[in-house]
Amino acid sequence: MATALHNGRPTHMQTTTVSRPVPFAPPAVGREEIAEVVSTLESGWLSTGPRVAAFEEAFAAYVGAPHAIALNSGTAALHLALLASDIGAGDEVITTPLTFCATANAIIHTGAVPVFADIDPGTWNLDPAATAAAVTPRTRALLPVHYAGRVAPMRALRALATREGVRVIEDAAHCVEGVSNGQKVGAIGDFTCFSFYATKNVTTGEGGMVTTADERAAGFIRAASLHGLSRGAWLRYAPGGAQPYDVLMAGFKYNMMDIQAAIGLHQLARVAEMHARRTAVWERYDGALERLPLRRPAPVPAGDVHARHLYTVLVDEREAGLSRDALRQALAERGISTSVHFRALHLHPYYQDRFGLRRGMYPAAEAVSDTTLSLPLSAAMPDPAVDRVIEAIHDVFR
Ligand SMILES: *Cc1c(COP(=O)(O)O)cnc(C)c1O
Repeated sequence: MATALHNGRPTHMQTTTVSRPVPFAPPAVGREEIAEVVSTLESGWLSTGPRVAAFEEAFAAYVGAPHAIALNSGTAALHLALLASDIGAGDEVITTPLTFCATANAIIHTGAVPVFADIDPGTWNLDPAATAAAVTPRTRALLPVHYAGRVAPMRALRALATREGVRVIEDAAHCVEGVSNGQKVGAIGDFTCFSFYATKNVTTGEGGMVTTADERAAGFIRAASLHGLSRGAWLRYAPGGAQPYDVLMAGFKYNMMDIQAAIGLHQLARVAEMHARRTAVWERYDGALERLPLRRPAPVPAGDVHARHLYTVLVDEREAGLSRDALRQALAERGISTSVHFRALHLHPYYQDRFGLRRGMYPAAEAVSDTTLSLPLSAAMPDPAVDRVIEAIHDVFR
């Protein structure tokens, strides 16, 4: 990781200035990404073109999916996967309340209603029994989120979906590297939606991807991502002539640019290396925090690969002697940036007002929502920064 940069500076320079604040999730952008962005700018083709096609091909090969469609966000990926599943007004989609608002908002933008089911208190992922109990005649899809990089219980959820005749659309924003029972995330459900936002495991600054085995759905998503055109600009201007296009639907402007794909191509090439680095940081945290009154993430079952996106501890005030918010503040005073993933969606005013939700409905999600704290984690995190986080936490508990 000697070439990784943070705010334009190589991260190895951080080791000489240990008092600099520890950022939460700095992107691990290397020289290769920078050179490829420059080449793209010099190539004369900035928008969706050959680099997007190459990124899609590399990503499809990485997850083992027949089709991968690059988009400008993970939210767009969720929206188009839902539309490709013919989900709209009058339909329900079951998801977890312990997620980013984009998961539920994408459902709402189709006209459907997000129906929450509580999480498993051990894994913080959608609980299959609670999911089954939330099914109604209007249910059209299950939308698990692989929380923090831990794969949701795909075997149970897929069995439920098959029994009920509904789709499985995965929010894999945290889980590029995930494997469930030996199966690669991206090649399990009907649609898998990835995010390449700046803090995610693989980044393009902003960006997303849908993978699917459904060729028709892939064609729909591709057209819907670019105004509903039958042919993108790169193909229209390809050598061999100027091709006309048809407008097939009132589509969206969700396409990825070559400038973004230029970053993604080199991020993807280093995906295993970056995952290994985050796993090493994770293991340092696990060992160093063992004796503190904090709940740490559960071990990963055999056959699964955890994508190591967020290292989240639970701060139970009765056990820890201080609240999550007090610990967060004490760490901020020591220069350590942390984050909260997530305040459960049914505790936000919009979802409460619109869907009649209130505290008490999803107690397991509330328990995590009230106590969870995400520690700094990134492949661009040098050892001295990890040491500083660990020392600061021990200092607070002294
Ligand atoms: C980041 C994230 C998204 C949205 O991804 P964008 O690329 O920012 O649109 C969706 N769901 C979860 C769980 C996320 O963390």
